[in-house]
Amino acid sequence: MDSPENKDYVVVVQCHIVQEHCSGYFCEKAFHERTGGFAPYPKEKPLRMLSLTCGGCCGRAVQRKLMNLITQARKSEGIERDRIVVQLSSCITKNNHHGPPCPHLDYLRAVIARTGLDVREDTRVSALAEKRRREGLYD
Ligand code: SF4
Ligand code: SF4
Repeated sequence: MDSPENKDYVVVVQCHIVQEHCSGYFCEKAFHERTGGFAPYPKEKPLRMLSLTCGGCCGRAVQRKLMNLITQARKSEGIERDRIVVQLSSCITKNNHHGPPCPHLDYLRAVIARTGLDVREDTRVSALAEKRRREGLYD
């Protein structure tokens, strides 16, 4: 996987079910502040960020959404695939108050791998949720 420092465009993939009641504000805040899963991206570097959902279980639609993004970004602005990175939201990857991690996580990884994009995991990482995970409250 390429270094986060070489990326210009971050695509956050949210859980479609969670997104029905979550604006994604805390993901955007974490991105803005470069915390949680965004900590490896240099704060001083201007980065684009776009959020989309997996499209609903089982997540198959995300492949076509990402392929559409790859095509449009290249055609419109010359942004090549290797400059784009997918960031799976924490509500997909982690145990949290929304529920356990996505049951289709491996499938999501597999369909995203087909797009040739680099994939990283986690977005907002709440200190309270981390504490609850350590205490086993979500188990
Ligand atoms: S990680 Fe949190 S803020 Fe981001 S989409 Fe999931 S529930 Fe919303
Ligand atoms: S596939 Fe996973 S991430 Fe997508 S809606 Fe279903 S549970 Fe959420």
